[in-house]
Amino acid sequence: SGVGLGEGLKAGSSWRCDTCLVQNRVTDNECIACQATKSPPRDSAKQMGVGTASQSGKPAPPAAGTGFGDKFKPAAGAWDCDTCLVQNKPEAVKCIACETPKPGTGVKR
Ligand SMILES: [Zn+2]
Ligand SMILES: [Zn+2]
Repeated sequence: SGVGLGEGLKAGSSWRCDTCLVQNRVTDNECIACQATKSPPRDSAKQMGVGTASQSGKPAPPAAGTGFGDKFKPAAGAWDCDTCLVQNKPEAVKCIACETPKPGTGVKR
């Protein structure tokens, strides 16, 4: 059910022409537009094929940004030496230039 105007109206108030879909008064025995004969009232709504909305395909996942551009930015975990400001690799536990221990590693001077 749930179709448009007219279908939901009480039988007897109006009827809709099946041919041209014009809404006619109950007193009209034929369509005022196309003169089609009045269709018998239908108690049950016509089974419409609607309701099964086709699911649209999922959008393709965005390409991961990993890989491209990695060489242009410091690797994750890279750290700058506080003493000489040299950038060191994440795995370096001390500065490659001045041998200052990497902060936060617990390595004592
Ligand atoms: Zn009609
Ligand atoms: Zn250093």
